[in-house]
Amino acid sequence: MEQFFQADSWAGWLRIGARNAGSDGVVYLLLAGTGWVLGYLLFRRAWARRKIIAAYPGRADIVREVRLSLLTLAVYGIVGASTFWATGRGGTHLYWRIGDRSAGWFWASIALTIVLHDTWFYWTHRMMHHPALFRWFHRAHHRSHNPSPWAAYAFSPLEALMQAMIFPLAVGLYPMHLAAFGLFMLWQLTFNVIGHTGYEIYPRWMMDSWLGKVISTPTHHVMHHETSRGNYGLYFNVWDRLMGTNHDRYEERFRAVTAPDRSRAAVG
Ligand SMILES: [Zn+2]
Ligand SMILES: [Zn+2]
Repeated sequence: MEQFFQADSWAGWLRIGARNAGSDGVVYLLLAGTGWVLGYLLFRRAWARRKIIAAYPGRADIVREVRLSLLTLAVYGIVGASTFWATGRGGTHLYWRIGDRSAGWFWASIALTIVLHDTWFYWTHRMMHHPALFRWFHRAHHRSHNPSPWAAYAFSPLEALMQAMIFPLAVGLYPMHLAAFGLFMLWQLTFNVIGHTGYEIYPRWMMDSWLGKVISTPTHHVMHHETSRGNYGLYFNVWDRLMGTNHDRYEERFRAVTAPDRSRAAVG
Protein backbone atom coordinates (compact mmCIF):
# COMPACT_ATOMS: atom_id res chain seq x y z
CA MET A 1 0.00 0.00 0.00
CA GLU A 2 2.88 2.27 0.89
CA GLN A 3 4.14 2.52 -2.71
CA PHE A 4 0.75 3.78 -3.76
CA PHE A 5 1.35 7.00 -1.79
CA GLN A 6 5.05 7.55 -2.46
CA ALA A 7 6.25 9.86 -5.21
CA ASP A 8 9.80 10.37 -6.44
CA SER A 9 9.02 13.25 -8.79
CA TRP A 10 6.93 16.40 -8.95
CA ALA A 11 4.61 14.70 -11.44
CA GLY A 12 4.11 11.78 -9.05
CA TRP A 13 3.45 14.18 -6.15
CA LEU A 14 0.84 15.99 -8.24
CA ARG A 15 -0.78 12.70 -9.24
CA ILE A 16 -1.08 11.67 -5.59
CA GLY A 17 -2.49 15.11 -4.73
CA ALA A 18 -5.10 14.80 -7.48
CA ARG A 19 -6.02 11.31 -6.29
CA ASN A 20 -6.43 12.57 -2.68
CA ALA A 21 -8.60 15.45 -3.85
CA GLY A 22 -10.65 13.05 -5.97
CA SER A 23 -11.28 10.56 -3.16
CA ASP A 24 -12.09 13.36 -0.65
CA GLY A 25 -14.38 14.80 -3.32
CA VAL A 26 -16.31 11.53 -3.74
CA VAL A 27 -16.87 11.36 0.05
CA TYR A 28 -17.95 15.04 0.10
CA LEU A 29 -20.36 14.41 -2.77
CA LEU A 30 -21.84 11.34 -1.07
CA LEU A 31 -22.26 12.87 2.40
CA ALA A 32 -23.28 16.43 1.49
CA GLY A 33 -25.44 14.94 -1.30
CA THR A 34 -27.19 12.68 1.24
CA GLY A 35 -27.85 15.70 3.49
CA TRP A 36 -29.20 17.58 0.50
CA VAL A 37 -31.46 14.79 -0.79
CA LEU A 38 -32.87 14.04 2.68
CA GLY A 39 -33.24 17.58 4.05
CA TYR A 40 -34.00 19.59 0.93
CA LEU A 41 -35.88 17.15 -1.31
CA LEU A 42 -37.38 14.06 0.36
CA PHE A 43 -38.13 15.30 3.90
CA ARG A 44 -38.26 19.06 3.37
CA ARG A 45 -41.89 19.17 4.59
CA ALA A 46 -41.78 16.38 7.12
CA TRP A 47 -38.76 17.88 8.86
CA ALA A 48 -39.73 21.59 8.51
CA ARG A 49 -40.58 21.75 12.22
CA ARG A 50 -36.92 21.06 13.01
CA LYS A 51 -35.45 23.57 10.49
CA ILE A 52 -33.33 25.93 12.62
CA ILE A 53 -33.82 28.89 10.24
CA ALA A 54 -37.20 28.75 8.45
CA ALA A 55 -35.93 30.00 5.07
CA TYR A 56 -33.87 27.82 2.71
CA PRO A 57 -30.59 28.94 1.14
CA GLY A 58 -30.90 30.26 -2.41
CA ARG A 59 -29.37 28.90 -5.60
CA ALA A 60 -26.52 31.45 -5.57
CA ASP A 61 -25.57 30.34 -2.05
CA ILE A 62 -25.41 26.70 -3.08
CA VAL A 63 -23.32 27.47 -6.18
CA ARG A 64 -20.84 29.51 -4.08
CA GLU A 65 -20.62 26.77 -1.44
CA VAL A 66 -19.90 24.07 -4.03
CA ARG A 67 -17.30 26.23 -5.84
CA LEU A 68 -15.45 27.01 -2.63
CA SER A 69 -15.60 23.33 -1.65
CA LEU A 70 -13.89 22.35 -4.93
CA LEU A 71 -11.02 24.72 -4.06
CA THR A 72 -10.87 23.21 -0.57
CA LEU A 73 -10.59 19.71 -2.07
CA ALA A 74 -7.59 20.89 -4.13
CA VAL A 75 -5.91 22.25 -0.98
CA TYR A 76 -6.63 18.99 0.91
CA GLY A 77 -5.12 17.05 -1.99
CA ILE A 78 -1.90 19.08 -1.87
CA VAL A 79 -1.55 18.90 1.93
CA GLY A 80 -2.21 15.14 1.80
CA ALA A 81 0.42 14.58 -0.93
CA SER A 82 2.94 16.70 1.00
CA THR A 83 2.30 14.71 4.19
CA PHE A 84 2.86 11.43 2.30
CA TRP A 85 6.05 12.93 0.85
CA ALA A 86 7.28 13.82 4.35
CA THR A 87 6.35 10.30 5.54
CA GLY A 88 8.57 8.76 2.84
CA ARG A 89 11.46 10.75 4.35
CA GLY A 90 10.78 9.67 7.92
CA GLY A 91 9.06 12.93 8.87
CA THR A 92 5.82 11.52 10.32
CA HIS A 93 4.55 8.56 12.38
CA LEU A 94 2.06 7.45 9.73
CA TYR A 95 2.22 3.64 9.46
CA TRP A 96 1.04 1.33 6.71
CA ARG A 97 0.97 -2.22 8.06
CA ILE A 98 -1.99 -2.61 10.39
CA GLY A 99 -0.13 -5.25 12.43
CA ASP A 100 2.62 -2.75 13.36
CA ARG A 101 0.49 -1.51 16.29
CA SER A 102 -2.30 -3.02 18.38
CA ALA A 103 -5.96 -2.91 17.41
CA GLY A 104 -6.52 -0.91 20.60
CA TRP A 105 -4.15 1.80 19.42
CA PHE A 106 -5.83 1.87 15.99
CA TRP A 107 -9.13 2.96 17.63
CA ALA A 108 -7.46 5.09 20.32
CA SER A 109 -5.65 7.08 17.61
CA ILE A 110 -9.03 7.95 16.06
CA ALA A 111 -10.44 9.10 19.43
CA LEU A 112 -7.26 11.11 20.09
CA THR A 113 -7.52 12.78 16.67
CA ILE A 114 -11.15 13.72 17.33
CA VAL A 115 -10.15 15.44 20.59
CA LEU A 116 -7.10 17.07 18.97
CA HIS A 117 -9.18 18.30 16.02
CA ASP A 118 -11.87 19.71 18.32
CA THR A 119 -9.20 21.73 20.15
CA TRP A 120 -7.37 22.75 16.95
CA PHE A 121 -10.65 23.82 15.39
CA TYR A 122 -11.85 25.86 18.39
CA TRP A 123 -8.64 27.87 18.75
CA THR A 124 -7.90 28.41 15.04
CA HIS A 125 -11.57 29.32 14.54
CA ARG A 126 -11.39 31.99 17.25
CA MET A 127 -8.13 33.25 15.75
CA MET A 128 -9.73 33.50 12.29
CA HIS A 129 -12.44 35.71 13.79
CA HIS A 130 -9.77 38.30 14.68
CA PRO A 131 -10.49 41.40 12.53
CA ALA A 132 -6.97 41.28 11.04
CA LEU A 133 -7.46 37.72 9.75
CA PHE A 134 -11.20 37.35 9.22
CA ARG A 135 -11.32 38.79 5.70
CA TRP A 136 -8.55 36.53 4.36
CA PHE A 137 -9.28 33.34 6.24
CA HIS A 138 -12.88 33.08 7.25
CA ARG A 139 -15.21 35.52 5.48
CA ALA A 140 -15.85 33.08 2.63
CA HIS A 141 -17.31 30.52 5.05
CA HIS A 142 -19.44 33.20 6.74
CA ARG A 143 -21.02 34.32 3.50
CA SER A 144 -23.41 31.44 4.24
CA HIS A 145 -25.68 33.02 6.88
CA ASN A 146 -28.09 30.12 6.45
CA PRO A 147 -25.84 27.22 5.39
CA SER A 148 -26.71 24.13 3.35
CA PRO A 149 -24.90 20.76 3.58
CA TRP A 150 -22.66 21.92 0.71
CA ALA A 151 -21.15 24.56 3.05
CA ALA A 152 -19.31 21.80 4.95
CA TYR A 153 -16.14 22.47 2.88
CA ALA A 154 -16.94 26.06 1.79
CA PHE A 155 -13.68 27.66 2.93
CA SER A 156 -11.27 30.21 1.48
CA PRO A 157 -8.00 28.49 0.41
CA LEU A 158 -6.26 29.88 3.52
CA GLU A 159 -8.91 28.47 5.84
CA ALA A 160 -8.82 25.18 3.92
CA LEU A 161 -5.06 25.06 4.58
CA MET A 162 -5.70 25.66 8.29
CA GLN A 163 -8.30 22.85 8.36
CA ALA A 164 -6.11 20.46 6.35
CA MET A 165 -3.28 20.83 8.88
CA ILE A 166 -4.99 18.29 11.15
CA PHE A 167 -3.48 15.49 8.98
CA PRO A 168 0.24 16.44 9.31
CA LEU A 169 -0.41 17.55 12.90
CA ALA A 170 -1.89 14.18 13.97
CA VAL A 171 0.62 11.94 12.17
CA GLY A 172 3.43 14.30 13.19
CA LEU A 173 2.55 13.83 16.86
CA TYR A 174 1.69 10.11 17.18
CA PRO A 175 1.51 6.87 15.17
CA MET A 176 -1.61 6.60 13.05
CA HIS A 177 -2.60 4.11 10.35
CA LEU A 178 -3.88 5.66 7.14
CA ALA A 179 -7.20 3.77 7.47
CA ALA A 180 -7.62 5.19 10.99
CA PHE A 181 -7.16 8.67 9.57
CA GLY A 182 -9.63 7.81 6.79
CA LEU A 183 -12.24 6.82 9.40
CA PHE A 184 -11.57 10.06 11.27
CA MET A 185 -12.17 11.98 8.01
CA LEU A 186 -15.47 10.16 7.57
CA TRP A 187 -16.48 11.16 11.11
CA GLN A 188 -15.44 14.79 10.67
CA LEU A 189 -17.29 15.24 7.40
CA THR A 190 -20.44 13.46 8.66
CA PHE A 191 -20.51 15.75 11.72
CA ASN A 192 -19.71 18.77 9.57
CA VAL A 193 -22.50 18.03 7.05
CA ILE A 194 -25.04 17.48 9.85
CA GLY A 195 -23.95 20.80 11.42
CA HIS A 196 -24.51 22.68 8.16
CA THR A 197 -27.69 20.99 6.89
CA GLY A 198 -29.78 23.27 9.08
CA TYR A 199 -32.00 20.80 10.98
CA GLU A 200 -31.79 20.02 14.68
CA ILE A 201 -31.45 16.24 14.93
CA TYR A 202 -30.99 15.78 18.69
CA PRO A 203 -33.82 15.05 21.14
CA ARG A 204 -35.17 17.89 23.28
CA TRP A 205 -34.20 16.19 26.58
CA MET A 206 -30.54 16.27 25.59
CA MET A 207 -30.04 19.89 26.67
CA ASP A 208 -31.25 19.01 30.18
CA SER A 209 -28.71 16.20 30.55
CA TRP A 210 -24.92 16.17 30.72
CA LEU A 211 -24.87 15.12 27.03
CA GLY A 212 -26.14 18.54 26.00
CA LYS A 213 -23.28 20.17 27.90
CA VAL A 214 -20.69 17.98 26.18
CA ILE A 215 -21.92 17.42 22.60
CA SER A 216 -22.30 20.28 20.16
CA THR A 217 -25.52 20.49 18.12
CA PRO A 218 -26.55 21.73 14.65
CA THR A 219 -28.39 24.63 16.38
CA HIS A 220 -25.04 25.63 17.90
CA HIS A 221 -23.26 25.92 14.54
CA VAL A 222 -26.21 27.39 12.59
CA MET A 223 -26.41 30.19 15.22
CA HIS A 224 -22.70 30.81 14.61
CA HIS A 225 -23.44 31.30 10.88
CA GLU A 226 -26.47 33.47 11.64
CA THR A 227 -24.76 35.86 14.06
CA SER A 228 -21.02 35.46 13.27
CA ARG A 229 -20.16 35.53 16.97
CA GLY A 230 -20.04 33.00 19.80
CA ASN A 231 -20.37 29.19 19.40
CA TYR A 232 -16.89 28.52 18.00
CA GLY A 233 -16.67 24.80 18.82
CA LEU A 234 -16.94 21.77 16.57
CA TYR A 235 -17.79 18.32 18.02
CA PHE A 236 -17.94 19.15 21.71
CA ASN A 237 -19.31 22.08 23.67
CA VAL A 238 -16.49 21.88 26.19
CA TRP A 239 -14.15 24.67 24.98
CA ASP A 240 -17.07 27.08 24.48
CA ARG A 241 -18.27 26.39 28.03
CA LEU A 242 -14.78 26.67 29.53
CA MET A 243 -14.06 29.94 27.71
CA GLY A 244 -17.58 31.40 28.13
CA THR A 245 -18.08 31.76 24.37
CA ASN A 246 -21.44 30.03 23.95
CA HIS A 247 -24.04 32.37 22.47
CA ASP A 248 -26.23 33.80 25.28
CA ARG A 249 -29.37 32.37 23.72
CA TYR A 250 -27.98 29.02 22.59
CA GLU A 251 -29.83 26.73 25.01
CA GLU A 252 -33.01 28.79 24.67
CA ARG A 253 -32.86 28.46 20.89
CA PHE A 254 -32.24 24.70 21.06
CA ARG A 255 -35.32 24.33 23.27
CA ALA A 256 -37.40 26.49 20.89
CA VAL A 257 -36.31 24.48 17.83
CA THR A 258 -37.05 21.16 19.55
CA ALA A 259 -40.35 22.23 21.19
CA PRO A 260 -43.02 19.57 20.55
CA ASP A 261 -45.66 22.14 19.53
CA ARG A 262 -43.35 24.10 17.25
CA SER A 263 -45.10 24.92 13.99
CA ARG A 264 -43.41 26.33 10.90
CA ALA A 265 -44.90 29.75 11.63
CA ALA A 266 -43.17 29.78 14.99
CA VAL A 267 -39.76 29.01 13.52
CA GLY A 268 -37.01 31.47 14.29
ZN1 LIG B 1 -19.78 26.49 9.36
ZN1 LIG C 1 -16.73 31.46 12.24
